Amino acid sequence: MCHCEERSDAAKRKIETMLNLIFFGPPGVGKGTQAARVAKFYKLIHVSTGDILREEIRLKTDLGMKVKDVMARGELVSDDLLIELLENTCSKHKGAKGFVFDGFPRTLRQAEALDEMMNRQDCKVAKVIALEVPAEELLRRLVNRAIEQGRTDDTVEVIKNRLIIYRNYTQPLIEFYKKKGIFVGVPGVGTIEDVFASLCNVIDNRY
Ligand code: AMP
Repeated sequence: MCHCEERSDAAKRKIETMLNLIFFGPPGVGKGTQAARVAKFYKLIHVSTGDILREEIRLKTDLGMKVKDVMARGELVSDDLLIELLENTCSKHKGAKGFVFDGFPRTLRQAEALDEMMNRQDCKVAKVIALEVPAEELLRRLVNRAIEQGRTDDTVEVIKNRLIIYRNYTQPLIEFYKKKGIFVGVPGVGTIEDVFASLCNVIDNRY
């Protein structure tokens, strides 16, 4: 067997064995909670770009200072910064069984960059799982979260802004992933346990 055939066999095995998932949906849909549970259960690395950026702000790093105001307004941080952040984060976990991406990608450019990154590493995204919650319930959850956590990025105006930005920039990715045949919607209402069970069902029957 020639060397390139050996390499392509190894690449194929990696694609088959690694489990990369994208958790998709508007702010407040419960992505973070479920992504963390799924990552723990399937022993995957949970990559929440929102959490990483909030930690950068807490530590007052250069990156944190750069993104602070944009995040406080509920706007999107630049694609360049996010793509670099994601590549750096993933490169720290070489040999991982897979990743649960939570809050990334949020734009077409980010989705294309993720594809390129996956291709470069002989990996792929197995499923894009969208949690689906009715709009009124979403707003109610976001307002409650703002009150409970005192999240400065969650005042009512900012919440509305985040939902508009989601609709304009992130929602169009649904078509992008539907065309690839990897998009699946899961009801995000019910107990955390119920939603988790539906997610496991989708993940276990992903082939
Ligand atoms: P999240 O916790 O995922 O809702 O993210 C909180 C905030 O972080 C967002 O409102 C954005 O300002 C920023 N952010 C997180 N992920 C991204 C991303 N993929 N692209 C651009 N901005 C992001």
